[in-house]
Amino acid sequence: MVLVKASWIRSRQQALKNEQEMPAPGPELNRIKKQAGLKFRSIAAPWEEHFHIRYGVAPKKWTVRVMNTRWGSCSTATGRITLNLKLYNKPDACIEYIVVHELCHLIHPNHGKDFYALLEKELPDWKTRRKQLKA
Ligand SMILES: [Zn+2]
Repeated sequence: MVLVKASWIRSRQQALKNEQEMPAPGPELNRIKKQAGLKFRSIAAPWEEHFHIRYGVAPKKWTVRVMNTRWGSCSTATGRITLNLKLYNKPDACIEYIVVHELCHLIHPNHGKDFYALLEKELPDWKTRRKQLKA
């Protein structure tokens, strides 16, 4: 969700800029996108099932695309979760953190205290993972 402070966005933009550049749109990018999709899928599947069983929510669609300011996004209006292709170069623990973060948004769209309480409950070490993502 886009409820973040400008300074935070700027620091994220800087962090993402330091990431490995992605190829221009074309066959190579599509190949990476497909591989990333499979990897993200395997990490997300057990969590998707867990959230469905425990909270009765499920994303309608997962999308992978290159984003410059965010690692992921979740639209409660469309039920679509988008993951940044650049996560592909990150450790699985970080990918998992973004997956769970976005799944929590299906229940709490903003970053209020209920959202963080849920995230904390589902992924108690999320802060460590977030730190790893910024490294
Ligand atoms: Zn969020």
